[in-house]
Amino acid sequence: MCIRAETGMKQNKKIAVTGGIGSGKSTVLNMIAERGYPVLSCDRIYSELAERPEFIAKLCRHFGDITDGCGRLDRKKLSEIVFGDREKLAALDEITHPAIYNEMFRRAAAYDKICFCEVPLLFESGAQSLFDGVIVVLRDASDRMAGAAKRDNVPEEAVKRRMASQFDYDNGDFAEYYVIHNNANLAQLQEEVETTLKRIEDEYTFKET
Ligand code: ATP
Repeated sequence: MCIRAETGMKQNKKIAVTGGIGSGKSTVLNMIAERGYPVLSCDRIYSELAERPEFIAKLCRHFGDITDGCGRLDRKKLSEIVFGDREKLAALDEITHPAIYNEMFRRAAAYDKICFCEVPLLFESGAQSLFDGVIVVLRDASDRMAGAAKRDNVPEEAVKRRMASQFDYDNGDFAEYYVIHNNANLAQLQEEVETTLKRIEDEYTFKET
């Protein structure tokens, strides 16, 4: 069977957007959204899941009472429980990652356009193969540190500690992925985004022959 969609018709594809802390993932995702593409974010989906009573109940069964007394998830309490404890962190990931990905893919399936998904811990969770393509946003470590510290109003040292526990983007091999270099101003980042979108459109849009 030859599958050849009409000219210009998009296949339902999911492209992950990832990168280190402060690399510019959210900025890139906003630029993509401004171009009219559907976008989804793991962080936003997690925030929504964290409001669902059945999800909170599941977490409480594993980690004890991690509510704020009014039935809402106390994310600070939860982070304190898992912080520095590999087993507990792995247990939390085992609950949250499938829930987030399932919800993300359920939403992505509703679009007939290419959907872009911000996935901060893509490589850490080994989820690359769940996506049709991956965009890696790369930015110099010093700029990432300064940008994230300024945005979150925290010392650069705090960002550095978080960076140390993450995938080493400075030494990764991203030959098989789309790479966006974010080492200049926002106008240049926008240009990189446009070029990457064009490549993705060309790759995932089947043309009549
Ligand atoms: P995190 O993983 O911490 O959520 P992120 O990868 O989503 O971060 P952004 O929030 O997009 O990164 O960017 C971090 C900060 O750096 C933001 O304040 C953003 O406005 C700024 N920033 C990103 N790229 C540039 C750039 N090229 N020029 C100036 N500021 C930038």
